[in-house]
Amino acid sequence: MPIAKDSVVSIHYTLKDDLGAVIDSSAGSDPLTYLHGHGNIVSGLENALEGKETGNKIAVTVPPAEGYGDYNKDLVQKVPLRSLKGIPNVRVGMQLQAQTEHGTRVVTVTHVQSDMVTIDGNHPLAGKPLNFDVEVTEVRPATEEELSHGHVHGPGGHHH
Ligand code: ZN
Repeated sequence: MPIAKDSVVSIHYTLKDDLGAVIDSSAGSDPLTYLHGHGNIVSGLENALEGKETGNKIAVTVPPAEGYGDYNKDLVQKVPLRSLKGIPNVRVGMQLQAQTEHGTRVVTVTHVQSDMVTIDGNHPLAGKPLNFDVEVTEVRPATEEELSHGHVHGPGGHHH
């Protein structure tokens, strides 16, 4: 069956940056299984998979606007180290939940200088084109329960 809204789709994928470095891949593990048409994967990839069938392979470059969004420098803040009390050994690359003027979000520590810490609320892949190589390994209709939850159950899916 061709992939359409409410299909449960399993894919193997490799995600590379523009230099060809692998950012993420399902190779060597279970395929990613998701409910199509519900925004569970980035929209550019979801759109590219529409109408594809088991066995199809696609290569698609997803622009930031259809991926993890454009890079927003307003999401970069400098905060005093003491405001991160309770978090031991704050270091570059660490991800933490922070209260920001945009609400609670996951931020990445990008710089630590004496008692000031720079945190970046952008997704690590914001502003980057996403180069996907994808193979569709299975397509099936969703169950009523999966549709009511908006996500996949069973192997590769959510657990309850
Ligand atoms: Zn569920």
